[in-house]
Amino acid sequence: MPATAMKIINPRRDERSYVVPDFVGPIISGGGDATYSCGKCRTVLLENVAWERVKDLAIRCGKCGKVNSVPDPNAPPKGKRR
Ligand SMILES: [Zn+2]
Repeated sequence: MPATAMKIINPRRDERSYVVPDFVGPIISGGGDATYSCGKCRTVLLENVAWERVKDLAIRCGKCGKVNSVPDPNAPPKGKRR
């Protein structure tokens, strides 16, 4: 399954706390069938996870430093037109 790009958030405007891994790569792996990658550099941050388990997570990408939040699968990303 292709990775879904995560939504980049601005930690200065978004008050939520986020995970800051000290390595590059998925911080959680297993438990579901959804894979999420950094919205900026496409590094996989969550691999084969269940959306229900990670939906409230925000993660700082270990590679490019952008803070990513898990997108809602019911709200398709903008710019995708049929
Ligand atoms: Zn990144």
